[in-house]
Amino acid sequence: MDFAEAQKEALGCTKCGLCHSRTRVVFGEGPLNAGLFIVGEAPGFNEDAEGRPFRGASGMLLDRILDSQGIGRDEVYLTTLVKCRPPESPPRSPKPAEISACRPYLMAQLKAVDPKVVVALGDIASRVLTGRKEAVSRIRGRAIPLDGRYVFPTLALSRALYTPADRDLLLSDFSRLPELLEAERPSTYGTLNVPRTPDAEREPVQPGLW
Ligand code: SF4
Repeated sequence: MDFAEAQKEALGCTKCGLCHSRTRVVFGEGPLNAGLFIVGEAPGFNEDAEGRPFRGASGMLLDRILDSQGIGRDEVYLTTLVKCRPPESPPRSPKPAEISACRPYLMAQLKAVDPKVVVALGDIASRVLTGRKEAVSRIRGRAIPLDGRYVFPTLALSRALYTPADRDLLLSDFSRLPELLEAERPSTYGTLNVPRTPDAEREPVQPGLW
């Protein structure tokens, strides 16, 4: 599935039960040539209402943290493991079957953007994107070479919002990103079979196609 097909299909998707708890599908947004790709767990109340990722207080925190590293939100591709808001208040975490159902959309996004660095926010995104079982608090701030990219697990924004010590850790982790974005792509790495198209074979990026 290519990016355009994934986006079109996701916007009307009923592949898992989260279609019943959403108001709007939050597919993701950002430039298709972004070097940095950030993956959260799931849309929350504000994202569901606006149809855009990382809004509300968490979005403002993310903007501030990116800004502290000289990175603009408009330079980053932003998305979540599942594209629909889970039920309950606050929303429960997505279940493994829901994450699996939504995985083809995330894979299409990763393949199209082909970022150098993928930030995984929180335990679930960290486990899905690194394939490792440790809690994110044990492996946060490490660049894990996988599929020709660096996967970079760190804390969830929601956790950092309410705990100043966690906010400091998140800031410290993000301070490594400029250096990683300048680094060469890893040449020896494990794989989770996340698709990657070599630069020479990639279609030209279509600016503005979110
Ligand atoms: S979470 Fe993903 S798989 Fe489930 S209904 Fe929404 S778009 Fe479809």
